[in-house]
Amino acid sequence: MLNKGGNRDTTQMLMARSVPGRMGVVTPDLDVPAAPLPAAAYLRDDLPLPEVSEPEVVQYFTALSQLNFSIDTHFYPLGSCTMKYNPKINDEVAFLPGFAGIHPQQPVELSQGALELLYRLQGFLSEITGMDATSLATLAGAHGELAGVLMMRAYHLSRGDTRRTKMAIPDSAHGTNPASAAMAGFDVVTVPSDSDGNTDLDALRALADDDLAGLMITLPSTLGLFDTKILEVCQVVHDCGGLVYGDGANMNALLGRAKLGHLGFDVCHLNLHKTFSTPHGGGGPGAGPVCCGASLAPYLAAPIVAQTAAGDYVIAQPPDSIGKTSGFHGNFGVLVRAYTYIRTLGAAGLTSISGNAVLNANYLMHALKDIYALPYDRTCMHEVVFSADRQHERGVSGLQVAKRLLDYGFHAPTMYFPLIVHEALMIEPTESETKDTLDAFIDALRAIDHEATTDPTLVQQAPHTTPVSRLDEATAARRPILRWQPAAD
Ligand SMILES: *Cc1c(COP(=O)(O)O)cnc(C)c1O
Repeated sequence: MLNKGGNRDTTQMLMARSVPGRMGVVTPDLDVPAAPLPAAAYLRDDLPLPEVSEPEVVQYFTALSQLNFSIDTHFYPLGSCTMKYNPKINDEVAFLPGFAGIHPQQPVELSQGALELLYRLQGFLSEITGMDATSLATLAGAHGELAGVLMMRAYHLSRGDTRRTKMAIPDSAHGTNPASAAMAGFDVVTVPSDSDGNTDLDALRALADDDLAGLMITLPSTLGLFDTKILEVCQVVHDCGGLVYGDGANMNALLGRAKLGHLGFDVCHLNLHKTFSTPHGGGGPGAGPVCCGASLAPYLAAPIVAQTAAGDYVIAQPPDSIGKTSGFHGNFGVLVRAYTYIRTLGAAGLTSISGNAVLNANYLMHALKDIYALPYDRTCMHEVVFSADRQHERGVSGLQVAKRLLDYGFHAPTMYFPLIVHEALMIEPTESETKDTLDAFIDALRAIDHEATTDPTLVQQAPHTTPVSRLDEATAARRPILRWQPAAD
């Protein structure tokens, strides 16, 4: 089935099985009056559909589904940022009829169980981030960022402080940070990183003035590093009257060990579809809750869930809310998975997640840094960023190393991100992989480096074992072909 050469061949696999008159279904004899056919202009004689049996259709689509890499069949060094292993129990709980079948307009008195779950989850996420309040209404990381910076804006304006138009953002921040700040109407000012990969404090001090609304910082940074000067960074921003936004999308590194609120952050978001067990590779549903300290809580996105003195759960609107950011109460199924994940692991389990995630990344770092250049040679967090510069000197790019990994049975890692690392290969193994898997992955990357010397063409033309080789990913995203199409002659 693994015939090479592209889509056309796989669609032709079914056509090749076609036998005139063979059918997958048997339709009953007509027992109602026959309706006239539409006008001839709408009819075609030639409809080149394959004539196949039902099992042939099932076999065809099952074979197609198995051509893909998936988290349930292969190791994904893309990690929590794109796809970590999510325990199946979390899906099962989200599928319970009481959760899956609930209607968002069901009366509050008939939705107490669901509201209690949301209320408790708000509390858990406030606890995990060291904050005072949480809104679950935002549906993605970038969505949470936008809500968070709008809250910062509302806070300054409510105090009559209208001069704060600048948002400082380190060059190691996630790309969505400057986009969110710009959407909220701020002027983005980039803060460089120092030679260790931390925020350049002198550059930040030079910006800290009464026109600075705040700082948006990704922690750990996209270099996979914990900014060791983070306490001073927050202090500098606060001293000039600004607020600090934390991009906590990669909480996999910090769970149970460091709380953003305790480090000095005023507001942050989490990506439940990264850390907290919703599969999202391929752009599935997400949730980017916003957690904040008491001073920003009145501005949280609506709705939030509150509890009355009598113990009932009600849907509430924070007093100075930036308003609604989505329909109804957020992405409920994602929130159920996160709640289940937190409850099944407990506090000790959550702490072990970050411990193992960071240990695994550092294990890979130490096992490979003699071969792959390491621009920032220090303890990493949940991910390690190598550079393929040394392979590039031998004519093999980071992209080609990543593609060659597919031949060894591993998904490719993130490439060419972060932008501040040349030929970047960003590897995030996550907490759930065994040492055996990590060792096999290390062996593969070492073997590819060897091939870059002995047989560079082999690496340059990889992958060789997949049904399709080099895809035009931009066209695939912009003009996707989503249905079977007969071959054009
Ligand atoms: C993924 C990610 C985001 C964006 O999250 P989306 O849900 O894709 O909008 C923001 N910041 C960081 C650090 C991320 O890893």
